[in-house]
Amino acid sequence: MNLRVIFLTARRNRGIILGMDIHTRETLKINEKGHLEIGGADCVALAERFSTPLYVFDEVHIRAMMRVYRETIDREYGGYGCVLYASKAFSCMAMYGIARQEGLGVDVVSGGELYTARKAGFPAEKIYMHGNNKLPSELEEALDAGVGHIVVDSMLEADRLEEMCKARGKTQRVLLRINPGVEAHTHHFVQTATPDSKFGFSIANGDAARMTEHILSLPHLELRGFHCHIGSQIFEKESFSLAAEKCLAFLAELKKSGYTCEELNMGGGFGVWYAEDDRMIPPSGYAEYLSALIGTIKTGCAKYGLKEPFLLIEPGRSIVAEAGITLYTVGAIREIKGLRKYVAVDGGMFENPRYCLYGSRYTAILANKANEPATERVSLAGKCCESGDLLGVDMPLAHAETGDIIAVLTTGAYNYAMASNYNRNLIPPAVLVNEGEAEYIIRPQTYEDLTRNDILPDRLTK
Ligand SMILES: *Cc1c(COP(=O)(O)O)cnc(C)c1O
Repeated sequence: MNLRVIFLTARRNRGIILGMDIHTRETLKINEKGHLEIGGADCVALAERFSTPLYVFDEVHIRAMMRVYRETIDREYGGYGCVLYASKAFSCMAMYGIARQEGLGVDVVSGGELYTARKAGFPAEKIYMHGNNKLPSELEEALDAGVGHIVVDSMLEADRLEEMCKARGKTQRVLLRINPGVEAHTHHFVQTATPDSKFGFSIANGDAARMTEHILSLPHLELRGFHCHIGSQIFEKESFSLAAEKCLAFLAELKKSGYTCEELNMGGGFGVWYAEDDRMIPPSGYAEYLSALIGTIKTGCAKYGLKEPFLLIEPGRSIVAEAGITLYTVGAIREIKGLRKYVAVDGGMFENPRYCLYGSRYTAILANKANEPATERVSLAGKCCESGDLLGVDMPLAHAETGDIIAVLTTGAYNYAMASNYNRNLIPPAVLVNEGEAEYIIRPQTYEDLTRNDILPDRLTK
């Protein structure tokens, strides 16, 4: 039985008011023991074998998401495009390995991500390098590695890159990051007349056109086209279409002065299910986002008489967020009568800072009592010395006891990627599950790792 059915049934039968729907996922189930299962692996068994806190990723879900995007481009755009995994969502060697096997490209936003991708054997020509303030050293690293494209986001960078390429006697393919002036939000989108962003050159105020002209004047940069990324956790297809329309109108203007855009990168940002009222979209449903976008691009190109550009998209969150869960063990439970119940876990803001950063919402479930209906609302507390160190407040949960295993769902994106050693807590390991088999893709840290780069000057030992 899938989770959604379980919860709906529980709500009906026992008159539960604090029921919730869990996003149905082919590989997230409740097994005959009443345990939560991910990718065919029993979460309670995973917690016993690998200990908690533990990041768990379902490989089947990750691959399904990558394929949906790739196959949509194949089917509806003649395969004339490439899906780039926005690796900042979860960057580790295994993810670059999966992306490579699935025929994706990747985008990287730092020298560290580039290094990790290359170390995993990811082909340099399928790497796009982003960043609003790439360091000179990072640009050199990108050129050393031979990355396919660098996405230029400042005049300084364009000029630096030109100098570096000139010195090397090579030409570098670049895209220019533009800002179409579409501000996308989680539940609505608005058009902004005066874009205010640290990213991209505004189309509306003419900066994008001026910067295009400048790059075209630099002999060692080959301007292949443009990139935009309107935001993250967006559910409205209209936002993406509106951005595409603005980009195409811009390309139509450039065409008049003789420039033909070869590549158009529309970024990422597709929303995922985290909690209660978020939209639930199965992997196959994400094809609709891309279909809508492709439709807009085809229509726009026909309208303006433009050549259909090589299409790139850069989903990060939607590829990996729902594929991941985090397992914790319940420790202290504190009930403040008439106020709030805190259930403390062995993790916190050091391995999932998103509640602290953005007030993000999550769904939690007792993995060892997954059939029990959510009858309470509790706040999940972390173990850091910060009162703000929570994973969520007033989350529906079944009655929890010390020792229970809690699974927090949809933690695959921007969790490990943002983890820290705050309070000198160890960043948990990550395991990849595939049809019931689990293996480490990120080893557990040790206390020794914590002091590896520490230096105790001699004078401080006396
Ligand atoms: C963060 C980012 C993405 C990915 O966004 P998601 O919301 O994770 O899909 C893609 N492109 C760029 C340039 C980004 O900064």
